[in-house]
Amino acid sequence: MHMMFFGIMGALAIYNLLLYVAVRDGAYLWYVLYLLAFVLSQASLRGFGFQYLWPGAPWFNGVSLTLFLSLSLAAVGFFTHQFLNAPRHSRLWSIIFRAIGWSGVGLALLSLIVPYHIAVALMLVVVTSGAVLGLVGGCYLWWRGEVLARFYVIAWGIFLFANIAYTLSKAGLIPTNTLVDHGTQIGAVIQMLLLSFALAWRINQEREQRQEAQAKALRVQQDANLKLEARVEERTEELRHAYDQLKQLSELDGLTQLKNRPYFDQALEREWRRNCRETQAMSLLMLDIDHFKAVNDNYGHICGDEALRQIAGICQDGVGRVADTVARYGGEEFVILLPMTDLEGAGLLAERVRNAAASLAFEWEGTTIPITLSIGVASCTPDYQRDYEWLIRTADKALYRAKACGRNRTLMAHENDSGEINLTPAGNNQPSRG
Ligand code: GH3
Ligand code: MG
Ligand code: MG
Repeated sequence: MHMMFFGIMGALAIYNLLLYVAVRDGAYLWYVLYLLAFVLSQASLRGFGFQYLWPGAPWFNGVSLTLFLSLSLAAVGFFTHQFLNAPRHSRLWSIIFRAIGWSGVGLALLSLIVPYHIAVALMLVVVTSGAVLGLVGGCYLWWRGEVLARFYVIAWGIFLFANIAYTLSKAGLIPTNTLVDHGTQIGAVIQMLLLSFALAWRINQEREQRQEAQAKALRVQQDANLKLEARVEERTEELRHAYDQLKQLSELDGLTQLKNRPYFDQALEREWRRNCRETQAMSLLMLDIDHFKAVNDNYGHICGDEALRQIAGICQDGVGRVADTVARYGGEEFVILLPMTDLEGAGLLAERVRNAAASLAFEWEGTTIPITLSIGVASCTPDYQRDYEWLIRTADKALYRAKACGRNRTLMAHENDSGEINLTPAGNNQPSRG
């Protein structure tokens, strides 16, 4: 029976020591130390220590029981502290478990110096209170929800029960038998097996917690990624919107809100190329306000600006198609680009705009100021032989002639087969050589 006890305990010690080397969990080391100290105390108690382990050391044999029992108490204190994750559950119990550990250490040192009967008396008090405290602490942590405390309490319960039975039988209070006589060892074996099992359980539990934590971290990360993506998208949308607004602003003339000159230049080039491909006629109107300098001179530039805005509005209202572009070309000059429109259609539109301007009856500080336009119209079917500036030059030429012929009129530039330009007033069939 004794050898079985030492055999089982030895196997458990080696096995858990190896586990400690593998997993580096301090609880294993405390467990092994507790187990060894306890086994040695049993060896001392039963005389095997003196017989086999320290036969030439009677003094040591004298202190060995109290020494090893104190050391086993010390190891139990630290083991419990770590095994039950005491700091996580209760500050008080964390302190108590460590106090049990240190009192075991103190007692071990004392047992080397004080007389045996004092050491034994001290040890009985400290070990008994340590064991009871350990059991109460285990119960408390069990109640606090620590799963491992269940194993701990059952293991300690069995061990203490066996020890109490042994003590009572020695005191002659209960009858003795082989089972009771070996109660301490049997109780210890069961306790050690249960704790060893619980240690393995603990590893499993920690792995599950780690996996859960990793899964949670992953979820948090994915969440953060989604949020980040949404934010980036939002920002991109805002930027796109801001860019669109900026682009629109950069295409506009500040005073009249018509398209500006750079936009018109690009539009003309683009439409020219498109009409080249589609061999469609396109037209350009060049409009200039008559005697505008006089308006500024007589009524001031604020008045001139307002007149410009109103004429711009008339030009814009004059066009009907989306592809038509109305722009401010210079100071008081406007252009209207009409893709897929022939000279005749452009002339009609020019007359409509001119008449609208003439009948505007522009009012400024109680005075009606007559405002008229001179317009030059050019039209052609674009081809790759000439460039789009031809339209500007020709419309300009017609405008210049319209001014020279008395203003407030539209002149249209006809191109004959030999490339000569004839200018005719809009609505008049009489061509006049340009
Ligand atoms: P014409 O009939 O020959 O076109 O005579 P005009 O006075 O209209 O022509 P000119 O080119 O001599 O004068 C253009 C004037 O337009 C010069 C300037 O006073 C005026 N002008 C140009 N840009 C602006 C502007 O943004 N605001 C104002 N108020 N006037 C402008
Ligand atoms: Mg001008
Ligand atoms: Mg003018």
